Amino acid sequence: MMDVPVLFGECWVTPQVSGWSPVFNPSRGEEIARVPMCGAAEVEAAIQAASAAFVTWSKTPAPARAARMFAFKAKLETHFEELAALITRENGKTLEEARGDIRRGIEVVDFACGISHLNKGEHLPQVAEGIDGVTMREPIGVCAGITPFNFPAMVPLWMFPIAVACGNTFILKPSEKVPLTAVRLAELALEAGWPPGVLNIVHGGREAVDALLEHPEIAAISFVGSTRVAEHVYVTGCRHGKRVQAAGGAKNVMIVMPDAEPDATTRAIMGAAFGCAGQRCMAGSILMAVGNAASQTREQIAAAIDNLVVGDTSANPKADMGPVIDSASRERILRSIEWGVAERAVLVRGGKHESQSRGFFVSPTLFDEARPDMHIAREELFGPVLTMLRPRDLDEAITWTNRNPYGNGAVIFTNSGGAARQFAREVSCGMVGVNVGVPAPMAAFAFSGWNRSFFGDLHVQGVEGVMFYTRQKIVLSRWDNAYRRTQGW
Ligand code: NAD
Repeated sequence: MMDVPVLFGECWVTPQVSGWSPVFNPSRGEEIARVPMCGAAEVEAAIQAASAAFVTWSKTPAPARAARMFAFKAKLETHFEELAALITRENGKTLEEARGDIRRGIEVVDFACGISHLNKGEHLPQVAEGIDGVTMREPIGVCAGITPFNFPAMVPLWMFPIAVACGNTFILKPSEKVPLTAVRLAELALEAGWPPGVLNIVHGGREAVDALLEHPEIAAISFVGSTRVAEHVYVTGCRHGKRVQAAGGAKNVMIVMPDAEPDATTRAIMGAAFGCAGQRCMAGSILMAVGNAASQTREQIAAAIDNLVVGDTSANPKADMGPVIDSASRERILRSIEWGVAERAVLVRGGKHESQSRGFFVSPTLFDEARPDMHIAREELFGPVLTMLRPRDLDEAITWTNRNPYGNGAVIFTNSGGAARQFAREVSCGMVGVNVGVPAPMAAFAFSGWNRSFFGDLHVQGVEGVMFYTRQKIVLSRWDNAYRRTQGW
């Protein structure tokens, strides 16, 4: 079985640590690798490599940094199918979903290739008498990224290509549940000619993360994961004087109005609720069918669930939905389903998954007639569970949506421009969909969570990403002509 290495500079190392954690193929419940649980010593070695590389990389001209991004993008395209298969193997999502994971990530690399344009400053001549003003954005130093299990390629790629394109060096601490894709991404970056030390990798959990958060040589922390850990990372990182962007969990609402187009809406809801087995921070997990939309919506979703093929994604290309990440997740989700039943929501489909496989499967589950205060309607379950509520009208649906403490995504399905407009303006979250099931922004836009879905100011991705990984300098210059005149030229 493979021991997953760390990367310091150009050296792939098997560190001498006391703790190791298993990496599973979730479809089969079988261990495929083990990952070292690093601590302060490994983090220190990574920081030394990144600090040394920063000296030269931060002075490298932007077009030369962009050239390295183009080369990396070409590597990702060449190894696209191999990466997708690896994601499926260690995460359990279907091959098609894994392709989406890597494609969305490549789009960020594509965005970062434009760094020469993205990082231009501003110039105001004659800002005062005889004085010109120029702004420039400079890299901030060694940055670190801590990522979750659910997008093994996309979320790391939200971070390090932009940080590196801006002239920073980077330490990635991927989820200990899916370290293999991160290692492959770093191998490809080295093959693409990224100088040693520009991208480094450590593995582990809280100990490694805390060592990064507390180290004086780390300038910025990017985090994506659960709200509990996001808050810890934000508070601790800020206390240690770093800039921090920390994206957390979510409970996303989908509203179906009586005038929504039924078939397209059902397809979008199924993708949003059960894609990646519900393990997406933009997963639609609450379905509010307004007024007389309720019975038809319930019928259509139940029928679509009956047609969903759940199976081993590494063997069965026909599987529409794979397992959840591990047995602990599976047990937690099944407990939440029991809680929903105990609170007297109506279990329409799903519950347990009766399977001979040792994989971590949960059946696609639909509850109806839930109330907003129930556990299944409040908590992020992060599994294939869709909870349906029946608000009287759009006002009540918006009121219930805004009681939710999170603020990632909310979606409305309607043919009414007025309803869509009211919803988009009144809903308290950062990413809104109108007839779009998963309104996750593309690379040019920031991933704009609000409320308890995000801690910080500048979000990951897009121009906000460039701002996060750079700091602005303003140069005021006065050049007068007195000397020239004394010389007579
Ligand atoms: P997680 O919070 O358990 O882990 C995320 C990262 O934090 C991992 O690298 C992990 O090793 C580390 N970590 C775990 N416990 C820690 C601790 N006590 N102290 C310091 N570090 C710790 O999240 P997960 O289970 O890997 O991912 C699922 C969560 O991520 C969900 O809540 C999901 O909504 C969220 N997520 C959010 C976004 C977003 O953009 N808002 C995107 C993807 C996933």
